[in-house]
Amino acid sequence: MTTMNDTQRQALRAVLEARREQLLSELDEVRQGHAERVSNADNSPQNAFATEANEVAQEAVRDAEARRDHDELVAVRAALQRLDEGSYGACIDCGADIGLQRLQAFPAALRCINCQSKAESAAAAR
Ligand SMILES: [Zn+2]
Repeated sequence: MTTMNDTQRQALRAVLEARREQLLSELDEVRQGHAERVSNADNSPQNAFATEANEVAQEAVRDAEARRDHDELVAVRAALQRLDEGSYGACIDCGADIGLQRLQAFPAALRCINCQSKAESAAAAR
């Protein structure tokens, strides 16, 4: 199927595993941030209004980041699972080789470049 050799596969696995750890710790920080704000909630009644507006805005940013991290984590986990199953490197839509260059740039890529751009324009049209 693909021209990838074991060394290249190992290198991609290492990248994916490192990325998974990083995403997990980022998501952990987001969760801890939530917990801290809950425990400090009663401490500053005078500026509560401004603080709350500010926190809502910050939280929206954090939530968007957390969602992105989470989506990427799902893709990274799927890629690692496909490495274990031996199906890594084949497009999930058309089965073509994703291509080593693309995998080295995006180790979590599940689709070839053609199917990816189709999937993205479909998502944008929704
Ligand atoms: Zn494809």
